[in-house]
Amino acid sequence: MPTPVKLSPLAKQVYYILTGGDTAYCNFHFGTQLVSQAKFLDVAWYISVGAIQVTEMPSGTGTAAEYYPCTAHPDKKATLQVKASLNQADHIAASNVIHEATHAMQDIQRLILAQEDAEAAAFVAQAVYFHYHRFLEAPQTGDSASDAIMKVAFDIASANVGGFTVDPADEERLRKVIIAHPHYQSNIDPVFKYRFPGVAIPP
Ligand SMILES: [Zn+2]
Repeated sequence: MPTPVKLSPLAKQVYYILTGGDTAYCNFHFGTQLVSQAKFLDVAWYISVGAIQVTEMPSGTGTAAEYYPCTAHPDKKATLQVKASLNQADHIAASNVIHEATHAMQDIQRLILAQEDAEAAAFVAQAVYFHYHRFLEAPQTGDSASDAIMKVAFDIASANVGGFTVDPADEERLRKVIIAHPHYQSNIDPVFKYRFPGVAIPP
């Protein structure tokens, strides 16, 4: 059994978000992917044994959080990067942790996905979080392409309370707005399948 590591205050914030009420409500299928609290608990466990490191986002970085598979991080380690100011009361920042932790669970399971499907599941998880916190509509960030994605994800989550399977028509609707986002567009190759390398558990 790997030994638990001493968590930084920032890693603890992430751990609390993933293991508390914030993920209790999350339980859905997107295609073959299942996103559920049990899987967020897996991500938290990987953090607790140091298999996924939590690092501080350099100041001035545009995004609120990022997940890097081991092959994409200079430390060669699966990494969840979050803002130093992260706390559970900041719902936008916490929702970004939910989004990135969804990518971490995809990595733990070594899923092979089209990138838009990896993103779609992460956006729906984020939207479920907003519902759990009684948002009446999808929050606006000012980035219209991102807001368009969240609006569709939010609609899908509102139509489906509790455990649900995303309808094929809704899957398509969400993929479409994701592919329309310039950030994802530049990364999407129609024949490319996103292969998560997997997270190594320390001995
Ligand atoms: Zn994402």
